[in-house]
Amino acid sequence: MSAILPFIQGKCPQCRKGNVFTHSVTNLKNFREMNDNCPSCGVKFESEPGFFWGAMYFSYAYSVASFIIIGFFFFTLSDDVNLTWYISTVIGFTLITSPMSFRMSRLLMMYIAAPYRKFKGNYTDNR
Ligand SMILES: [Zn+2]
Repeated sequence: MSAILPFIQGKCPQCRKGNVFTHSVTNLKNFREMNDNCPSCGVKFESEPGFFWGAMYFSYAYSVASFIIIGFFFFTLSDDVNLTWYISTVIGFTLITSPMSFRMSRLLMMYIAAPYRKFKGNYTDNR
């Protein structure tokens, strides 16, 4: 079973069934709220204190990549780049996508940066 679809859906990295987050990404008031344990298999998501501090590196990489991509379009599509427009666009894009970035970073932290947490296929054997 591929991990891409459960990752996009925000499922548990171990059983790929239970939801990691309690609310929708569009719920701007509660998009950060996470389940402490997986509702399906019971694995603890924050496996050690400060585990999600590492997610900031993923968030930082996402932000820098978006700055570069937006800058590429600004500087290749226009001969006379207005720096104020570029900075406004980058800030707006970062603010609008911050809930998605927050979740993606935490999920990446759990899916990629915790290799000791192996996917157990027997949890999803529902064929
Ligand atoms: Zn689970």
